[in-house]
Amino acid sequence: MVIILPTLPLLVNPIQNFLIMIGNNSENLQVCSICGVSIAEDGQVNFSDGKPGTRARLYARVCQYTEKPECINRETELIGELTAQDRYETGEDLTIPTLSTSQATN
Ligand SMILES: [Zn+2]
Repeated sequence: MVIILPTLPLLVNPIQNFLIMIGNNSENLQVCSICGVSIAEDGQVNFSDGKPGTRARLYARVCQYTEKPECINRETELIGELTAQDRYETGEDLTIPTLSTSQATN
């Protein structure tokens, strides 16, 4: 009985092809040099850590604070409507100063 073991290149090639496919996809990514995140053609935002999000999430958490024209995520048409979930993950202890101003005078 003869067992033919695949050689190493045969094992590696499918993995390399897969990585090349991923690499080709990344050509459509826009990278914001200010925020350090990449935005895919379909609008998916890849944060440096955590799960991928949306332009709205990126804007709510990062871009609205940068106030730099170089930031690529400043087009409100693309960003869309911000929701409470866009601002922070559940459980994070963050305060947003703008939310408390409306009920200051009484
Ligand atoms: Zn940005």
